[in-house]
Amino acid sequence: MKNPNRLVLANEKVASLGYSVLAVLLVFTSCTFGEQSADLAIQNVTLIDAENGVRVAQTVVVTGGNITAVLPAGEPVNATETVDATGQYLIPGLWDFHVHLTYDQRFTEAMPGLFLNHGITSIRDTGGPLELVLPAVQAIRDERTAPRVFFAGPLMDGEYVVYDGNNMPLLGIGNPDEETARANMARLADAGVDFVKIYEMVTPEVFAVLVEEAESRGLPMDGHVPLSMQARDVGPHVQSLEHLRNIEMDCIADPGSSVAERRGLLANPDGLAGGALRSQLHGLYRIPSIVSYDEAQCSEVVASMMSTIQVPTLRLNAMALQPPFSRSDWTEVLEKLPTAAAEDWSAQGGGSMSERNTDTTFPDWSLFLVGLMHEAGVPIGAGTDTPIGLAAPGYSLHSELEMLVRAGLSPMEALRSATIRPAEFFNLQDEMGTIEPGRLADLVLLGGNLLDDITLSRSVQAVVTKGQFLDRSELDALVR
Ligand SMILES: [Zn+2]
Repeated sequence: MKNPNRLVLANEKVASLGYSVLAVLLVFTSCTFGEQSADLAIQNVTLIDAENGVRVAQTVVVTGGNITAVLPAGEPVNATETVDATGQYLIPGLWDFHVHLTYDQRFTEAMPGLFLNHGITSIRDTGGPLELVLPAVQAIRDERTAPRVFFAGPLMDGEYVVYDGNNMPLLGIGNPDEETARANMARLADAGVDFVKIYEMVTPEVFAVLVEEAESRGLPMDGHVPLSMQARDVGPHVQSLEHLRNIEMDCIADPGSSVAERRGLLANPDGLAGGALRSQLHGLYRIPSIVSYDEAQCSEVVASMMSTIQVPTLRLNAMALQPPFSRSDWTEVLEKLPTAAAEDWSAQGGGSMSERNTDTTFPDWSLFLVGLMHEAGVPIGAGTDTPIGLAAPGYSLHSELEMLVRAGLSPMEALRSATIRPAEFFNLQDEMGTIEPGRLADLVLLGGNLLDDITLSRSVQAVVTKGQFLDRSELDALVR
């Protein structure tokens, strides 16, 4: 202890400060009790959330970034800002549960504004190198007017890395053995990742180590089904899976022989790069597996996924059924994007449909499997993979909701997939995902009822992000 006298003085100071704060509080509460002003009241609105259903004629009160009251519309409220939302619908802030902030750096800076512009108030970054993702995440977290962001860091790949930065963009890191896997997990945990994403080239042994290391740190696990494993052995150990990837390979009559063959190829006798090796296996096994679908085997696979959120990215998997460039508002969409990227996408979208892959075996399978899983009670999450595959940040989440409905979800269940499901992955379901007192104030005001028509999720009139109300013109000012 350097100077005990000084410490005593400091304590006295703290104590007297405490008394004066208390005195001020007493005066304050005695004057204003019962009429303390809230920040925001959204009045006479219809509430829609997937837990509480539909509540008509309500007023939602927001103070200090939280929902503090939900009242019948007539009740008097003293708020700094009031919004008359007669005829409108209020839903919880949306998530895009599969985002790559740094995959195409022309988008990185524009993404937060584009997300809010479309009602997305939370995002999960599902893969990128730490040296790019950390600064991107920090920049978003430093901004008040930005979505909440959760990130994984690099894809945890195997000996051969698909996204290796040579033949493919750099997204992954190698985990050739268990020791490296443990060291990598320690490094990711130190960097503060919110979850871990396991990729397709890991061995079952490395997979087991990654699961063990993540569990011991309380980190949720996401991933693709590794090509060396059967989906039913992966599902129960991870909390979410992306793109339905490689699940078809376990939905066949003899999945054991298929996985044994794949392990032989994964030894990489031809010395291929990671990306080429993966493509070879997809080419050999994807469509043939779908064609020889086995119902009994697949119901076992589905049963193994009952507590694993499936993020099917149907917008991507089934893009041939509804290409983004064929949408009537595609030109408007491009106008909001960073110029260089928009020009590039415009050129890519210019090709006629006849020049494109019109085989719908995989798109149809993806819709079928989501329907099957949903019917069985498997949790579904809404993610887009933006900006991969012409997924416009923000806009594409609404396309995903449409595709989920096309696959068999009701509009309310689609809403659940973009609100409550993502919250559950991070164990945040008591903080977000519904409209109730005590929840974080992330909300979207819609002009139309998405329960009548899911495309009305696009009718965003205003957004509340971290308690801050942004009207349509303020939302438009966030994009180009
Ligand atoms: Zn992705």
